Amino acid sequence: MHYPTPRVRIRHWPVSLSWRERSCPLTIRLVGRDDPGGHQESREQLVSYASRLLDDELAVGTAGNLSVRSQDQVLITPSAVPCRRLEAADICVVGLDGALISGTAEPSSETPMHLAVYASTPARAVVHTHSPEVVALSAVCDELPAVHYAICGLGGPVRVARYARFGSSELARGAVAALSGRTAAILGNHGAICYGAGLAEAYDRALLLEWLARVHRLACSRGEPRILTDAELDEVAVEMRRRRYGR
Ligand SMILES: [Zn+2]
Repeated sequence: MHYPTPRVRIRHWPVSLSWRERSCPLTIRLVGRDDPGGHQESREQLVSYASRLLDDELAVGTAGNLSVRSQDQVLITPSAVPCRRLEAADICVVGLDGALISGTAEPSSETPMHLAVYASTPARAVVHTHSPEVVALSAVCDELPAVHYAICGLGGPVRVARYARFGSSELARGAVAALSGRTAAILGNHGAICYGAGLAEAYDRALLLEWLARVHRLACSRGEPRILTDAELDEVAVEMRRRRYGR
């Protein structure tokens, strides 16, 4: 079922009001009532995590974007809307082919990259950041090596995809290639992309990636870091799986 656009439902409002002025709590309640697909919860979750992007310094201003997959639709943050001002009704809904289903603004310019990740991985949520430690590393390294065993939570050493213009299909292809066997990838001179079974998991991975990049920088400032071997990482991965099975 298609989601009715807020523009239709508020057409009786005075035309002198800007869209921002119209975005009152009443509008949000109407969205929830008219949202049989359960998207309201995902919309609110995306708004909450978009704000956290700034709090956690994973992005600034309008940079960074997040999405959640719901069956054959993807809810994604809009383009050029500051994270702090984002509201549930601003979230765009697109099909897996990128066709806009509903939204009062343009979907994120990185929508093609999000869709490419959904098409090639089991992702249910995708988080794209411009976090400073990761961006700095991407400008000088081809890979974030295993300076700490927690990197196994991302599938292993994190590749840096070659720089490509934001919003381009080349960037989307590069991200997907760098994600092979991983749940996170670094985008050269740009940022990072992480996915998970839900938004919380994808976001936690973005935080972990930024922390690992920081640890790597600190280690390099003290000398040449010792990098964990493949055998050591395999041992950690086995133990992680065993403990997960245990729970
Ligand atoms: Zn970006």
